[in-house]
Amino acid sequence: MQNDIIQTQGLSKKYGKKFAIKNINAHIKPGEIYGLIGRNGAGKTTLMKCINGQIQPTDGNIFVDGKAYKDQSAVRIGSLVESPNLYGDCSAYENLMYKCIALNIKDKKRHIAELLELVELDKTGKKKAKQFSLGMKQRLGLALAMVSNPKVLMLDEPINGMDPQGIAGIRETLVKLNRDLGTTIIISSHILDELAKFATRYGIIKDGELITEFSSDTLENESLSSVTVKSPNINEVYEALKEKYRLSQENFIDANTLKIQDGAEKHREISRFLYDKNIYLEEFRVDHMSLEDYFMHLTGGEKP
Ligand code: ATP
Repeated sequence: MQNDIIQTQGLSKKYGKKFAIKNINAHIKPGEIYGLIGRNGAGKTTLMKCINGQIQPTDGNIFVDGKAYKDQSAVRIGSLVESPNLYGDCSAYENLMYKCIALNIKDKKRHIAELLELVELDKTGKKKAKQFSLGMKQRLGLALAMVSNPKVLMLDEPINGMDPQGIAGIRETLVKLNRDLGTTIIISSHILDELAKFATRYGIIKDGELITEFSSDTLENESLSSVTVKSPNINEVYEALKEKYRLSQENFIDANTLKIQDGAEKHREISRFLYDKNIYLEEFRVDHMSLEDYFMHLTGGEKP
């Protein structure tokens, strides 16, 4: 079993008497794309800020690569939490150059050229950052977060307010970073359909507490939600399954089709059972829950 690259133990942050996050035990493995999900005010930004050293937790510990985390610069965590800090009157190249100088990066020009290519801002020339679109600003923020070649990249709502093309651009860049450089990515987003396209694991925060962590495989395999069976002999299917799956007339969605909610976990069992009975089926479909459905199921019906 691989060590966690980031682990938090009992991490809490209080503002006055109120917990912004409470007793968070998060586990992030190297190479994961970890989606952090929660409603507004759930505590996602606070957790990220504690991990990147922007704020001090009230209680608990953070371990990076198994070592107690004290000095942020030693562990190379890049982050884009809240809007990127850009020099509006400078070009993308100049913004990156300032950061390279501040971090004493070697071979600055080559590094900047690679970063600009990575985020597809290599053709922006002298254009000032304040004239960039939201997506370009976010991509420059991403490049700035990558200046130190971080092992872990933390992004808070990086696609908020962007158009579908801009969102796809950020996704492609992140997937490329993760695949080519093995960068671990922690990303929060309210756009769960988008997150579900590339996250490999998820953590759900509700009212400051991390209520669960699960992998994309779990989402695929365990959150199955229904089986739909269509047959010209649907009454035979009904009779065969009625008792075992407690079916009633309400399971008919039309004259030839039955839908069995929560039956999908047992879809193999159902299909084998019907196969053994030798009943002809026109359709046998397993519907998976979406990430949003699963989130709502786990948090008691609240949309993120
Ligand atoms: P959003 O999706 O809206 O960005 P979030 O999940 O990132 O929300 P946080 O910004 O971490 O949530 O906030 C968690 C809680 O902590 C909220 O109740 C918020 O009001 C509170 N909080 C955050 N920062 C501060 C602060 N500086 N002072 C007081 N309360 C704060």
